Amino acid sequence: MILRIDNLVKHYGPVRAVDGLSLEIGEGEVLGLVGESGSGKSTVGKCVLRLTEPTAGTIELAGRDITRLSRRAMRPLRRDVHMVFQDPYSSLNPRFTVERIIGEPLLRHRLADRREAATRVAAMLEKVGLRQEMRTRHPHELSGGQRQRVGLARALILEPRLIVADEPVSALDVSVQASVLNLITDLQRDMGFSCLFITHDLSVVEFLADRVAVMYLGRIVESGPTAEIFAGPRHPYTQALLSAAPVADPVRQRERRRIVLGGDVPSPIDPPPGCRFHTRCPLAYDECRTIEPLLHDPRGNGHPAACHLVTAERVPDAAK
Ligand code: SF4
Ligand code: MG
Repeated sequence: MILRIDNLVKHYGPVRAVDGLSLEIGEGEVLGLVGESGSGKSTVGKCVLRLTEPTAGTIELAGRDITRLSRRAMRPLRRDVHMVFQDPYSSLNPRFTVERIIGEPLLRHRLADRREAATRVAAMLEKVGLRQEMRTRHPHELSGGQRQRVGLARALILEPRLIVADEPVSALDVSVQASVLNLITDLQRDMGFSCLFITHDLSVVEFLADRVAVMYLGRIVESGPTAEIFAGPRHPYTQALLSAAPVADPVRQRERRRIVLGGDVPSPIDPPPGCRFHTRCPLAYDECRTIEPLLHDPRGNGHPAACHLVTAERVPDAAK
């Protein structure tokens, strides 16, 4: 297990961004963490990177509890986990050349001298599909897709065991999103790193993730193997997300009934009592407004959902 998060809580003042979340990622596994904006998914990534302090719960990285490590004690572990951001532009130093940006982690961790760093940067450029003459360019001279490739190269130069990718393609033109997603898939197969892939767009993870976890208002409402989630989503919220996602096959698209959710995501300052999704759930009934459903895995095959109907071994169908 490369990452184990147990009962993570992160409150910003009154805002319950993450409110009791557990998940695990195995060696070489890609987990897609999916949710609308405001669901708390980025906060989970920031807690893993220790860019923000968790309020409660534990985070283990490669078997080591990192929840309360000091910055100094955390430093050697920074080689094991790296982040790829949504907007590579704001995370790349505008005054540095591409070569310096990608090679900087090697020099900072004293893993290479300048000459050796240059050799490894050259190899990494090739891996992410950038021409060698890009070395001397600055971020503003690159396209969005090229910048994200530089961001990936920098994240991967230390051969980390875990990558946290927060919406890595959502700032890119649709036409380049697929090529960057394919690149991430190829790099992952080639290098074998584990990945926490955070996205608001369920369709993005279909071909990339081994497993999917769906978040709503600071908690996971459903998780399971990707193919299972796509073939038979159990939670009404996942069913709604899937019904809104585009599918390539026009027959499947016609068969699929669109589920329109009423209202907005409620405020994480004051989440609804009972099932947090009840204010928008087309299947909500009395119990949902007072009793909170727990994750339940009806067939014991690693595909739990937090819905009273699932607990009662009924099959929710929000499209009815
Ligand atoms: Fe909907 Fe009730 Fe299930 Fe929540 S517990 S998802 S409100 S049916
Ligand atoms: Mg976010």
